[in-house]
Amino acid sequence: MSDRNWSHLLDVPAFPQERYAKLADRLAALMKTQNDVLLIQAEAVLALEAVATSLAQPRLKALNIITSPYGAWFGDWLKRGGCEVVNLVAEAGRPITVDAVRRELNQHPDIAVLSLVHAESASGILNPLEEIVRLSREKGVLTVVDAVASIGGHSLDVDKDHIDIAVIGPQKSLAGPVGLSAISVSKRAWAMLNHGNAPRGSMLSLLDQKEQWLDTGRGILPGTPAPLEFFALEAALDRVEAESIDVSQKRHGLAATATRRALTALGVELWVPDEEASALVTAVKLPVAVQRADLVSQAKIDGSDISAAVGPGTDYLIRLNHTGLRANKEPVLANIKALAHALRHHGHSNKVDKAIEVVDETYSSAAKQ
Ligand SMILES: *Cc1c(COP(=O)(O)O)cnc(C)c1O
Repeated sequence: MSDRNWSHLLDVPAFPQERYAKLADRLAALMKTQNDVLLIQAEAVLALEAVATSLAQPRLKALNIITSPYGAWFGDWLKRGGCEVVNLVAEAGRPITVDAVRRELNQHPDIAVLSLVHAESASGILNPLEEIVRLSREKGVLTVVDAVASIGGHSLDVDKDHIDIAVIGPQKSLAGPVGLSAISVSKRAWAMLNHGNAPRGSMLSLLDQKEQWLDTGRGILPGTPAPLEFFALEAALDRVEAESIDVSQKRHGLAATATRRALTALGVELWVPDEEASALVTAVKLPVAVQRADLVSQAKIDGSDISAAVGPGTDYLIRLNHTGLRANKEPVLANIKALAHALRHHGHSNKVDKAIEVVDETYSSAAKQ
């Protein structure tokens, strides 16, 4: 046989069936929850669609907060299932305000479910999760949180905050594989998921997952699990646990702080103030008159990752990515250098040396603490 016919990625052994439950428990620990955790054999968007599809029924009214395309899709899936959806759309590229949420909840006392994204990788904002779930709880409203991007980058405490359903993915801040995801489900959420309209015999059915996996002793998952993804998840969790999730969050916070200080030193305007900013990506307004696509293609050096923001009304924003393994000094520096270089090309005079110094200082003073 020639070498070309052989690869580590082929002929993979089955993932040992006794280790699925262990994976779910390890994810539950990262989410800080005692709730049931389901393993979903698909990227996180499918887990979100499964939650919306499983919850939706004609007699249900939901407040769906939209701060990116993910939230818009969630509202559409709820509607498809016959749910009455009140979409609360934030100002373009901005977090939702607690006041706006309070107003809607007061105006629609029959709302039973509230859904929102925690931190947005699309635009670099952070929604005021704790206050919103507290408000929902006071009103007896079930909460669904998309924490796909935020877990590992921001503090997420499912039980302390009483989040009924949380969806996570390993591929953003946790720097893991993209092909699977997980959902935590509280007792209250199970009660609401158990209704006559719930999908059955479907990959989108949470009740199927419960009956076929949770209630049968959490052995092999229903369907045909993809072993490569599960081995990769295990490796990713080993790495996250070795660092600790709290240290991972601090590392993301530091990368965001260093990025933001360096951008200010460059004379570039930050899109949102610190308290509204996600630690995953930093969004800035283009400081010069230039086509965004041109600037993004020019702002490239080894190790940098700069892209256009995503979502309506964010046409003049670009994002510096410092998520996952990128939440480290070298990628942060690469982003700053790449942006400074591209901006200079368009006549924006900036002090790149000063910005690099600011990153150095931020990291060395954090190391002294
Ligand atoms: C990335 C992301 C998702 C979806 O993840 P996929 O891997 O694309 O399925 C969902 N929500 C948020 C907030 C995300 O950042």
